[in-house]
Amino acid sequence: GHLPEHIRQKVHNHPCYSEQAHHYFARMHVAVAPACNIQCNYCNRKYDCANESRPGVVSEVLSPDQAVKKVMAVAATIPQMTVLGIAGPGDPLANPERTFDTFRQLSEKAPDIKLCVSTNGLTLPDCVEELAKHNIDHVTITINCVDPDVGAKIYPWIFWNNRRIRGREAAEILIAQQQKGLEMLAERGILVKVNSVMIPGVNDEHLAEVSRIVKAKGAFLHNVMPLIAEAEHGTYYGVMGQRGPTHEELQKLQDQCAGDMNMMRHCRQCRADAVGLLGEDRGQEFTLDKIEAMD
Ligand code: SF4
Ligand code: SF4
Repeated sequence: GHLPEHIRQKVHNHPCYSEQAHHYFARMHVAVAPACNIQCNYCNRKYDCANESRPGVVSEVLSPDQAVKKVMAVAATIPQMTVLGIAGPGDPLANPERTFDTFRQLSEKAPDIKLCVSTNGLTLPDCVEELAKHNIDHVTITINCVDPDVGAKIYPWIFWNNRRIRGREAAEILIAQQQKGLEMLAERGILVKVNSVMIPGVNDEHLAEVSRIVKAKGAFLHNVMPLIAEAEHGTYYGVMGQRGPTHEELQKLQDQCAGDMNMMRHCRQCRADAVGLLGEDRGQEFTLDKIEAMD
């Protein structure tokens, strides 16, 4: 691709960032983070966080110790396992003790595994030091807007300083935290991928601007994902019949946002407990009862 050399060095064996690598290197997610600190209109809490994961069913939540045990078992079975991510089922950084306990143990026991995390960004600025300490090399921030008027249509509330804040004010705080977190990570040389959920009629015409801004601030990839609005996953909060984009609409926006920036076209929106090569999920081989039975 067109990635600068120092970034290419970091991502050549990362299945999520390299078209080639995803055939040879495996990734896994561990679901250690149940809580969330915001409400996205497209979220249905019965399912994994849509910031990184396709809604399906909610992943079984593990304790940090159980997650570490699982990672070690998977790494022993799947030698191509190079990347461990925490992506839910809620927001990893809204569960800092659980998330950082998992990262701390893994950076000691399995220093060769790359660690990554995804977040809505609300508490990101407070977590950047800790992320740097655990040698996290990729952070995914879901940024759906940079305009609080658009944000008010996506986020009904956030939980901030021990109270619930609604509407435009909530979106304003979330956007400011996301942008600040992005800048702080870029300053420290931690790779940042930005995910955006394309919501027709809400932020579809706004995402090209989001793409320009996050790129200017140092994000190395912008990944536009479709809103998945299937009947069984509930309606978009408060809006009956909100649809997801068509394949053509998604492709058009992805082309528009690409410019000279590297767009991610092969992200599979894996489950919060996915295991294996991209496109395969061997999670059922590593359920908790099976891992406990391995001793
Ligand atoms: Fe749901 Fe994720 Fe949004 Fe939280 S950040 S409300 S878990 S989609
Ligand atoms: Fe990679 Fe996307 Fe799957 Fe995360 S959800 S492991 S970034 S392909």
